Amino acid sequence: MLIKDSISQTSSAQPLTAGVVFDIQKFSVNDGPGVRTAVFMKGCQMKCVWCHNPESLSSQKQLAFNAEKCVGCRRCEQVCPNGVHSFDAEGNHKVDFDACQTCGQCVDTCMQDALKIYGKEMTVEQVFVEVIKDKVYFDKSGGGITLSGGEALKQFEFCLALAKMCKANGVHVCIETNGASKAEHYRTIAPYVDLFLFDYKATGDELHKALTGMTRRLVDTNLRALNEINASVILRCPMIPGYNVSDAHFAAIAMLAQTMDNIQKVEVLPYHNFGRGKASEIGTDYMVDAEMPDDEVIESWLNRVRHYGEIEVTLS
Ligand code: SF4
Ligand code: SF4
Repeated sequence: MLIKDSISQTSSAQPLTAGVVFDIQKFSVNDGPGVRTAVFMKGCQMKCVWCHNPESLSSQKQLAFNAEKCVGCRRCEQVCPNGVHSFDAEGNHKVDFDACQTCGQCVDTCMQDALKIYGKEMTVEQVFVEVIKDKVYFDKSGGGITLSGGEALKQFEFCLALAKMCKANGVHVCIETNGASKAEHYRTIAPYVDLFLFDYKATGDELHKALTGMTRRLVDTNLRALNEINASVILRCPMIPGYNVSDAHFAAIAMLAQTMDNIQKVEVLPYHNFGRGKASEIGTDYMVDAEMPDDEVIESWLNRVRHYGEIEVTLS
């Protein structure tokens, strides 16, 4: 079937729904089963101290500057209408991120690829066209689309329309979620989602709030709601040494996975510091000072969760 036929079968005469997408990663093997196209949406309700996608936190488009690529040609300074780029007496490039209106003029003029804008408005149909190109790989591998972020469900109408379009065209749909969207959003979108990749970030209300900015209350309510409608869930557990790793945490994960039969398995996501460089590029602080775990430490985490429950635990 032609792509335009796929779209016309599932679109009505309603106006096109648009969202702000900051990346589309094809051939992803870490965002659900099989080979997947991961669509990363901007905006998040939480602010996890270890966030590996700090460019996703704001709902708005954002300028990013890579100082290592900059050769100081000052072309950006000449074209910017808002005085965002300046140079001190030593020739150091200063960027006033708050003054940027994301017009993109400096990005277009930079010959070194040192500047970029995170976030692009795309319609559901535009994203679907990118996704459906890889259907043959999805079908062969048991893959599909994964809506991620940020928190994908912050752009709920967009996600719902895209999930419906994908389901109508036989594409397996995963949503990666922090669990903190409105309860009605989970219930409404669930019929069009094959699998929720649901975060379990920290055990205990106080710690969860300290590490993410929100308590566990809404997250736990939504996890129970998905259990009540028997929606398939993989529990995704980031492990950040010195921040959320504890025996109480391993035990709580195992207990949850054992008591909710819609939870297929637990995936452990070991800490990495890829977010550090990206935070610096968009002019924000990186808030974690943790060690990257080695293989032995990671294996011990998997075994600690297994110790507390008869459940499948894998590395993501
Ligand atoms: S245009 Fe690019 S390379 Fe030149 S000063 Fe600006 S960021 Fe640096
Ligand atoms: S995107 Fe536009 S407003 Fe922002 S720094 Fe570049 S030229 Fe200036």
